[in-house]
Amino acid sequence: MTPMKPLILVIEDDPQIRRFLRATLTAEDYQFHEAVNAQEGIAQAATRQPALVLLDLGLPDQDGLEVIREIRRWSQMPVVVVSARGQEKDKISALDLGADDYVAKPFAVGELLARIRAALRRAAPAAADGANSIIRFGDVEADFEKRLITVGGREVHLTPNEYKLLQVLIKYAGRVVTQRQLLNEVWGPQHTEQSQYLRVYVAQLRRKLERDPARPRYLQTEPGIGYRLSFDT
Ligand code: CA
Repeated sequence: MTPMKPLILVIEDDPQIRRFLRATLTAEDYQFHEAVNAQEGIAQAATRQPALVLLDLGLPDQDGLEVIREIRRWSQMPVVVVSARGQEKDKISALDLGADDYVAKPFAVGELLARIRAALRRAAPAAADGANSIIRFGDVEADFEKRLITVGGREVHLTPNEYKLLQVLIKYAGRVVTQRQLLNEVWGPQHTEQSQYLRVYVAQLRRKLERDPARPRYLQTEPGIGYRLSFDT
């Protein structure tokens, strides 16, 4: 018998999408539970303690953003937002409130499952305690204990802010990080509007780390939202 995969709580009012997600997730052996509105979702998240919440933003009783706000009061459980709203503002609000990732409807099943796996991986204890001081992606190796970054075995010099930015992107590897979050963590809370810093520093990092900086493989831009360090390609 194969062990059951983690429990995923789906908070979604559309019965068709619920049915689709139930079929998709149970086919992947995830345990599945569902709630049809925000209040029920918050209650189920508290009582069932799922490994991950898949959350629709357009719920009948309350805005899905309120669900994130409420869950984040007492839990760091991964929350992946699935929503038809295309507006950047909603994505940014969801991420700034502590959502782990965002998948827009209509979504590809493969992409949704990859995001779920990535969010679950990040939530696993080994990933969370930062025990791995050496991170590798492609021919880039970052040794945070020695503060040494190499590309293809050759040392690359990073300025202190480039180094900090890379550290933050690696901390959230695989998930999109908003401009505000990056600016706050690298430059501090008084600089959260200076998105031009990011453009400059991300470009510098790409020049130093990417094989083709014009077509970045790892340091990806999420237009209008922020950046994502992607290891999966
Ligand atoms: Ca909805």
